[in-house]
Amino acid sequence: MKTIDRLAIANRGEVAVRIIHACKELGIETVLLHSEADVKTLAYRLCDKPVCIGPAAVNHSYLNIEANIQGALSADAEAIHPGFGFLSENANFARECEKHNLIFVGPNVESIELFGDKISAKNLVQKVGVKTVPGYQGENQETKKLIEECERIGFPVIVKAAAGGGGRGMKIVRKSTEAEEAIESAKREAVSAFGSPIVFLEKYLDQAKHIEVQIFGDHMGNIYHLYERECSVQRRHQKVIEESLAAVLSDSLRDKILQDAINIGRAAKYKGAGTIEFLVQDDDYFFMEMNTRLQVEHPVTEMVMGVDLVKAQILTASQRGPLWTQGDLIPRGHAIECRVYAEDPYHQGIPSTGPLGGMFWPQGPGRRFDFGIESGDEVTPFYDSMIAKIIVWDETRIRAIQKMRRTLQETVIFGIKTNIPYLLAILEHHEFISGKMTTQFISKYFPSGLKHPTDCGEEIINKIKTEISQESSTVTVGGKSNSTKNPWAESVWEKI
Ligand code: ADP
Repeated sequence: MKTIDRLAIANRGEVAVRIIHACKELGIETVLLHSEADVKTLAYRLCDKPVCIGPAAVNHSYLNIEANIQGALSADAEAIHPGFGFLSENANFARECEKHNLIFVGPNVESIELFGDKISAKNLVQKVGVKTVPGYQGENQETKKLIEECERIGFPVIVKAAAGGGGRGMKIVRKSTEAEEAIESAKREAVSAFGSPIVFLEKYLDQAKHIEVQIFGDHMGNIYHLYERECSVQRRHQKVIEESLAAVLSDSLRDKILQDAINIGRAAKYKGAGTIEFLVQDDDYFFMEMNTRLQVEHPVTEMVMGVDLVKAQILTASQRGPLWTQGDLIPRGHAIECRVYAEDPYHQGIPSTGPLGGMFWPQGPGRRFDFGIESGDEVTPFYDSMIAKIIVWDETRIRAIQKMRRTLQETVIFGIKTNIPYLLAILEHHEFISGKMTTQFISKYFPSGLKHPTDCGEEIINKIKTEISQESSTVTVGGKSNSTKNPWAESVWEKI
């Protein structure tokens, strides 16, 4: 067993706050490795010791390995939790931690390297007997060869950066004439974003659901699965709404996917929290990639499984366990998470920044709010615009959808614009409610975001005007009902 009395957090925002909460419950002191821009934040106020590691620009702070290591050592931390994003899947960072006797809260360096390269990950998975999306992952990277392979696979094809992540470095090629340009630009992007020009090709499955399995390896070598999450609601390949369990998945398919995930974890001798992502289409499923870290959407798993994944990560890093038996891990009810972004939902989601005014998070049974901001803090343009996550749990999926709608309607955030109206529109959509949505959902139904209510055309405005002018509001006075004409209807609509 290794003792962790003080843990450094190489991250920011809501995930830093999430880690601080877990540490407080475990009696561990926290050191926040933060940038100069993140002084006015909740994590800064909640941690035991803030250490500034550099300026706002991520390359000089959150992505700077040396600065993070030195920051942790200067505060006598014994371990580093990388959260998600930033250095969380960087094998060099994990190696440097080891070199400096700092416990990296995550899998070992070999696993990060193996799964960080999407091609080596696919090779391992195929050896285990799990299907991968048909494609080409060969060493010959000449554009001519890649075009030939696109033709062989059949369009549409997706070109991906081997070292890619975060929904970036992917290009969809729909016909042969687009192939050359798409491959060349994917290679250029791969070099500038991930430092490697290597790409691979996959058949683009355009009727698929994104289903992923949460796995966990304890320090004794046991691998567990904590069932699946569905993340089909995506904008530009980035998740917006996630849920657990999947909205629609047959028991027989679920059993196979979970078993395959366990087999992959065992083959990799995986330690800690990891997520194995699959595309599910036409009663068949294909491995896509494995993420060797905590996921943004981990709370939905925590809600249905009744576990704390961050505490489990830290306990495993300090060689404590086993934490569960597979038989203990029984899902109950349904959980949904909405990512709250500081952006203008009526203008293609352009980021919204500035000081935050009053906020109200409507607490209630089965409602959880993970955020990294408070009134008076500032949303800056330097980082990802996700400022909070709202998670709800209820007995069934439809009740969870209803609870999420109410929760979003009651949430108040002054000072900046958020995507809450956009989230509500999705939650009211018949295809989302039916659970049949695929990863094409947003591009199919919300290709240019949301229309502002005042931009939705004469026809709708006239319809609403008519409804309002006919509306009677019912006022209850002393237990009696009085029917009155809505006094505001005309004056409100005249101003539009
Ligand atoms: P990243 O590591 O950047 O998150 P992933 O490989 O996990 O990239 O893919 C992100 C998303 O892109 C998937 O959830 C899916 O919507 C889409 N995608 C990736 N590969 C395919 C494919 N072969 N066919 C259809 N969609 C795909």
